[in-house]
Amino acid sequence: MDEPLLSIRDLCVDYVSEAGCVRAVDHVTLDVSRAEIVGVAGESGSGKSTLAQALLRILPPPAIISGGEARFEGRDILTLSETELRELRWRRISMVFQSAMDSLNPVISIGEQIVDTLVAHGAATRQEARSRAAELLEMVGIPAPRVDAYAHQLSGGMRQRVGIALALALEPALVILDEPTTALDVIVEREILQQIRGLQEKLGFAVLFITHDLARMLQFSDRVAVFYAAQLVELAPAAELRRAPRHPYTEGLLRAFPSVQSDADEPESIPGAPPSLLSPPAACRFHPRCDRVQAICRERQPDLIQLGPRRAAACHLAE
Ligand code: ATP
Ligand code: SF4
Repeated sequence: MDEPLLSIRDLCVDYVSEAGCVRAVDHVTLDVSRAEIVGVAGESGSGKSTLAQALLRILPPPAIISGGEARFEGRDILTLSETELRELRWRRISMVFQSAMDSLNPVISIGEQIVDTLVAHGAATRQEARSRAAELLEMVGIPAPRVDAYAHQLSGGMRQRVGIALALALEPALVILDEPTTALDVIVEREILQQIRGLQEKLGFAVLFITHDLARMLQFSDRVAVFYAAQLVELAPAAELRRAPRHPYTEGLLRAFPSVQSDADEPESIPGAPPSLLSPPAACRFHPRCDRVQAICRERQPDLIQLGPRRAAACHLAE
């Protein structure tokens, strides 16, 4: 079998402060194949963005990678030097953030920003880069004459498209989308996701798609990884996850999204709230909220059990 594009093993990320140590990514193991779209789902605070930032080694202090491995195209990202990381970022792995406003420079036109990225990475001369910038903007649905516009002159949807054009400029093998459409209305969101899917099919990059919107994720992803309180609790092809989830938390998430269920069902939220990661519940972290809790769930943490070649779940009932 081919080596996965990205192979994460036992990855741990901690935020260490005077208040204590918060493990925001807890022994996560996950593979992403070439040209695969893997969705990362989970409630707020479950560690999705921390995982993404760890993969690009852009974690803000006081976060530290405290263990594990993340092999990308055969090399462990966690041991790369700063020079090697500069080669990796944007060129091999890029990211689209929740708000493109955060990643766009307000005083440089959008075209110039793409030109600067291409030139800085040695991908084109300034002259070549200008026509490439117009091509990239057209590819994401921005007409070429807007190449001289500034970020503040564009709508939120247009800015996100610029963020996508920038992320694709150097033809990376993996694009991380961190809640790329959260701030947009549903129509623009659908259009942008369809466009990314079309580009992904044409250009063949893999995607790690982070969102708390499970309905959107199931439509967009090939496989879905469900996170709860910093741990990976279920991994499955999107259609199988929707049809037959194997973890009670996934079942709860599916019931909570009206657009995932049939129209006849009322959405039902999961009782309780996610735990504080400063002192998470012992054994199975989901046990205080689980309607199928057994005695063993309070005593022993379930292992992530392989349930098939592309499926896994961490629940004593799945065992
Ligand atoms: P959201 O969907 O709200 O973006 P998320 O799933 O992406 O959430 P993260 O932002 O990765 O979650 O945060 C994971 C956990 O890490 C949080 O629950 C919080 O406890 C901890 N955390 C995040 N940032 C910091 C920080 N700067 N200092 C201390 N702890 C932090
Ligand atoms: Fe529920 Fe037990 Fe499974 Fe945890 S291990 S999800 S408490 S059944």
